[in-house]
Amino acid sequence: TPAIRIRDLVKRYAPAGSGEGKLALGGVSFDVPRGQVFGLLGPNGAGKSTLINTLAGMVMKTSGTIEIWGHDIDRDRRDAKASIGIVPQEVVFDPFFTPIEVLEIQAGLYGVPKAQRRSMELLKAVHLDDKAHAYARSLSGGMRRRLLIAKAMVHRPPVLVLDEPTAGVDVELRRQLWELVRELNDEGVTVVLTTHYLEEAEQLCDRIAIINHGQLIANKPTRELLDMA
Ligand code: ADP
Ligand code: ADP
Repeated sequence: TPAIRIRDLVKRYAPAGSGEGKLALGGVSFDVPRGQVFGLLGPNGAGKSTLINTLAGMVMKTSGTIEIWGHDIDRDRRDAKASIGIVPQEVVFDPFFTPIEVLEIQAGLYGVPKAQRRSMELLKAVHLDDKAHAYARSLSGGMRRRLLIAKAMVHRPPVLVLDEPTAGVDVELRRQLWELVRELNDEGVTVVLTTHYLEEAEQLCDRIAIINHGQLIANKPTRELLDMA
């Protein structure tokens, strides 16, 4: 089974007044193979965040099916949720929590037993171990992004999803985050990321799907896609 299997996914947001509501995903189907870095590329408004938020269970789909690591998100919600970690675009941490506390709280939310927690190890993996006990308010933007990635990994999901991981960051930080994604993937984590930078998708992804106006318009290995351009 693939890491993620999506079939005929439709999302129509409820209308603000009268009328039909916005069709954000118009029947999308694709698989994310295990072990890959998979890029979902498309312009603003294409439906990328809607798709990610539907995977994360934060947006209710209108119809269609989603399986995560073989678990249907409707019928097998607990196992599906345990199999995926989501890195949102931005999150405000409580300024008085430290990275180690952020990870311990998240581990508690996910019911990870104390003996199985590896918070320090995770902070090392994202190169934040020297900041383990610093207040979140003292962390730079790049450190916060890396903490978000560690937070999404506390329950050791096999699939990690990043929503626009480098939106609005400078070139150096972008390269750091790319390197971190590669390191996680080398350790066996399947990665799905959304981006509107073609270069980011080219540099990082084994496979790229292009979404526009809520429709998948391409889905190919990166090399094939670039040969066509
Ligand atoms: P992307 O992440 O690719 O920029 P989004 O998934 O955010 O795209 O948006 C897809 C479409 O759905 C856009 O037209 C957007 O305006 C609309 N949309 C997104 N969120 C909502 C919402 N909560 N209510 C209504 N429409 C929304
Ligand atoms: P519950 O399903 O028990 O209500 P939530 O889905 O509300 O739990 O998640 C609790 C916290 O964990 C929230 O802060 C949410 O943002 C975060 N969260 C939820 N799903 C994930 C995930 N897959 N990866 C990382 N954080 C997540």
